[in-house]
Amino acid sequence: MSSYLDYNATTPIDSRVLMFMTEVYNNVIGNADSRTHDFGQNARQVVENARQEVASLLNVNKDEVFFTSGATESNNIAIQGLAEYGLKNNKTHIITTAIEHKSILNTFEIMKQKGFVVDIVYPESNGRILSEHVLNKVTNNTLLVSVMHVNNETGIIQPVDEIGKELKKKKILFHVDATQSCGKLVEEVRSLEYDMLSFSAHKFNGPQGVGALVLHKANYKYPPIQNVYGGGQQENSFRPGTLPVALIAGIGKTCLIAQNNYKSDHQLCAKIKNNIIEQLNNSGLKYEVNGDQRFCVDSTLNLSFNGINAEALMLAGKEYCSISNGSACTSKSYARSYVLEAMKLENDKIDSSVRLSWGRGSDCDEISVNFSKLIQKAKSLL
Ligand code: PMP
Repeated sequence: MSSYLDYNATTPIDSRVLMFMTEVYNNVIGNADSRTHDFGQNARQVVENARQEVASLLNVNKDEVFFTSGATESNNIAIQGLAEYGLKNNKTHIITTAIEHKSILNTFEIMKQKGFVVDIVYPESNGRILSEHVLNKVTNNTLLVSVMHVNNETGIIQPVDEIGKELKKKKILFHVDATQSCGKLVEEVRSLEYDMLSFSAHKFNGPQGVGALVLHKANYKYPPIQNVYGGGQQENSFRPGTLPVALIAGIGKTCLIAQNNYKSDHQLCAKIKNNIIEQLNNSGLKYEVNGDQRFCVDSTLNLSFNGINAEALMLAGKEYCSISNGSACTSKSYARSYVLEAMKLENDKIDSSVRLSWGRGSDCDEISVNFSKLIQKAKSLL
């Protein structure tokens, strides 16, 4: 069977999470907002337990966690939710980076149409944003800065720790898209300074279709987010709609397991990465790793094979390794990776780049066997 090496797109659900969700689907049938009977109260209990589990993983207060359908929705609420406040208070300048996920970049486009001035910061060729490039763009009108923690294509960790500390001093709202770091860089995420933070459960062995938005209170007040949706009062009206109790139970369990497992997950991920690099070095193939590995997570590798077209390699090798070349959200239409373009990689390097990503549930030995077959395929394409 092909080794699944596309964890940055989505991960297999942990069987413990699935088991718990099934139990909830079977036994907890109420609406968490029904006050008048035990079915509702039981559902509410499940939701609030999960909220506590998310809060514990992130080391935030329980009332700072809001459930959403995933990072895309969290990002939209965090950013578009500030539009009214920004326009009213003449804070109409917002800053992000060229390597963000489309759910940030397209939302910034929407903000532009609403009257905001958008500044986009470019990374260095090593895949990293320089914090001073972000901070130098700040003006008296700046409302918001949004920077991702870990890039989904390269795995490069961005300096959101430094940026967050400085923005806090300047009292500028800071949003972190932690979709690729949550549950993995557990201690790092806990130590960040931010106002808003987004993530999805399915990137760390949880269910698809549920995520969270963390809204840090300052002086007992949430960031000035207005409701983006009309609806009921669920999740403080930030995300109205009937709560998906079993999915929420799933994200809670996912966070609890991550909290207990992240150190052993790291060991597995580092071993897989070392093995892949060793196999590459012994293969005789000419390759380059995209992004400075000193700043890379141990679960991602973005590679360019000299002289080999990535599309051809992915197709020819898919019976051995299931890999991708960039974000699944944009992979319907073939276009060069805008992340690698922003890093100013040459076109032929981009056209020969593939992304491999793995995590809990990956089988190190199986990957070694299949990756050596992928290497043989790559050689046959030269
Ligand atoms: N941000 C980042 C960095 C991501 O990698 C993704 C998923 N590819 C998202 C946001 C969006 O997550 P979802 O599709 O779960 O809403």
